[in-house]
Amino acid sequence: MPTYRAPLADFRFLLTEWLKLAEHTDVPGFTEAAELAGPLLEEGAKLCENVLFPLNQSGDEEGCRWEDGNVYMPKGFKEAYAQYVVGGWPAFTCDPAFGGQGLPEVLNMPVTEMICSANLSFGLTPGLSHSAYNLMAKYCPDELKPRFMPKLISGEWSGVMCLTEPQCGTDLGLIRTKATPNADGTYAIEGTKIFISSGEQDITENILHLVLAKLPDAPKGVKGISLFLVPKVWVNEDGSLGERNAVKCASIEHKMGIHGSSTCVMNYDGAKGYLIGEPHRGLPAMFTMMNAARIYVGVQGLGVAEAAYQGALAYANERLQGRALKGPKQPEKPADPITVHPDVRRMLLTIRAFCEGGRALVLLTAMKHDLTHRHPDADVRERADDFVQLMTPIVKAYLTDMGTESANLAMQCLGGYGYIREYGIEQYARDARIAQIYEGTNGIQALDLVGRKLSHKFGKYLRAFFHPAQDFIDEHKHDPAMQEFIKPLDKHMGYLRQASLWIAQKGLTNPDDAAAASVEYLRLFALVVMAWIWAQQARLALQGGAESPEFYKEKLATARFFYARILPQTISLLACLTAGSKPLMEPNLELS
Ligand SMILES: Cc1cc2nc3c(=O)[nH]c(=O)nc-3n(C[C@H](O)[C@H](O)[C@H](O)COP(=O)(O)OP(=O)(O)OC[C@H]3O[C@@H](n4cnc5c(N)ncnc54)[C@H](O)[C@@H]3O)c2cc1C
Repeated sequence: MPTYRAPLADFRFLLTEWLKLAEHTDVPGFTEAAELAGPLLEEGAKLCENVLFPLNQSGDEEGCRWEDGNVYMPKGFKEAYAQYVVGGWPAFTCDPAFGGQGLPEVLNMPVTEMICSANLSFGLTPGLSHSAYNLMAKYCPDELKPRFMPKLISGEWSGVMCLTEPQCGTDLGLIRTKATPNADGTYAIEGTKIFISSGEQDITENILHLVLAKLPDAPKGVKGISLFLVPKVWVNEDGSLGERNAVKCASIEHKMGIHGSSTCVMNYDGAKGYLIGEPHRGLPAMFTMMNAARIYVGVQGLGVAEAAYQGALAYANERLQGRALKGPKQPEKPADPITVHPDVRRMLLTIRAFCEGGRALVLLTAMKHDLTHRHPDADVRERADDFVQLMTPIVKAYLTDMGTESANLAMQCLGGYGYIREYGIEQYARDARIAQIYEGTNGIQALDLVGRKLSHKFGKYLRAFFHPAQDFIDEHKHDPAMQEFIKPLDKHMGYLRQASLWIAQKGLTNPDDAAAASVEYLRLFALVVMAWIWAQQARLALQGGAESPEFYKEKLATARFFYARILPQTISLLACLTAGSKPLMEPNLELS
């Protein structure tokens, strides 16, 4: 049976002892966050463990149901969502001007991770709504905000993003949905969007569709895309609900995983909408939502990996097969638990090292995101933003690739039972997979890293990682206890520098070389970032702190596992990426 307990001790350690939230007294909201973190995360854990997690398997089995344009979510989801709203969870990091509590995003991430672990499908509706909130907060015309923001923030209404059409997903320049001006200043939206998550559902009374469409005078390609707010139910000027808009769900998809999330074909038949932001500037506005959403999708990979780890660990402790190679560990039993076998330990520790390192990376990135919006010093804001820009594709792609890898490793730990529905682990493998695809495929994330982030202002974004990492090395290079981490960190940062330089130079003459190297480069980068993070955690573990001695002992042991067994992968990645594009471009892939 699957099992899930929120990793509260790790959240506490990271927020208090590593990020030291309470000490950032110059950043509005951080000291309140430090005070509230304990009780808030404990309450969030209760909701996830006791309400959302028990609906995960049943939601997967039952799935969503489409009937004549309406979509019904699995049993229990509506009530669980109502509990989520009553608890104030959608609002706690939102703008107080519209009913939010203004707490920093760094507190939202642990809650998001717990929801993704407990029930990924359930989490999609509120997760997308939060991304829609981020977009609306920045681009919604001020006069419309009082009408839409309070209910989006409270969770009574949800928000969805509508980009994809049958002929285009990655290449949004090809979209065909049209927007024609109406006499009253609104627009008539005409077209079909596909794969729209939560595009229709029965758990919120209204759904705000953020739709990309083209105005009649739109230039060709991505420069001709505008963004529109199209409510499912029209909202009158006084905020009351009006008539049903011409927004209809034509069908829902039958898919590999996330069965408890509706993936909708949406028809807009002259639906009324408002222009959001400037005409033809819809894509940059949508990217505001997408960047936050990409971090959120990374957390989906992390959340599923954590739940898969816990399920596999519990099983491996009970499953008796074979004997430890150096002699029985539990001679009184017919066999030892499979945790004695090095290969099972390899699988479990790979997931653990990923989850604890990935969690730290997510919280650090969220904290930097908060600094970009809250810090009084413009220089600090700019450096923090550089870090977020650099890490966004890494968080999205590395965490979701590892989410799938972790779910598969967890399944392997259970042997045949891992493949059987009742045990719950195969669901994680099916659910995790989509996160590598949506919100910009992981291949596109890698291109973003080499194409936009690496070259930006002669490496300005890169320095947001290299400088603090180098400072950390310099600070601890004479500490004998840290040698086992500092020396390899220094060496592997050298490989990353070498790879960055190779791509920068080759990309100038042959863009295929840079593109061909991109996926391995992103993974290499992620591993070196993880190494930097693990070295910092190891240093804290060596000192000890407020958690149990066992907690620090295990942290240190996991850091050592990461350095010995995971980090050396950089060497083969470097060899692959510097092989150039010829081996990829030479073979013929045309159908004969
Ligand atoms: C369950 C689910 C939920 C979704 N939810 C939403 C949603 O809420 N809203 C929404 O708008 N969309 C949603 N999507 C759509 C999703 O974002 C797209 O499927 C995704 O962006 C990929 O687009 P595509 O399917 O058209 O693939 P394509 O763009 O056709 O890509 C196919 C392959 O080619 C590669 N490729 C394409 N172009 C390039 C290039 N220039 N360079 C290198 N490689 C390239 C891709 O990486 C991919 O591997 C969802 C999809 C699914 C399955």
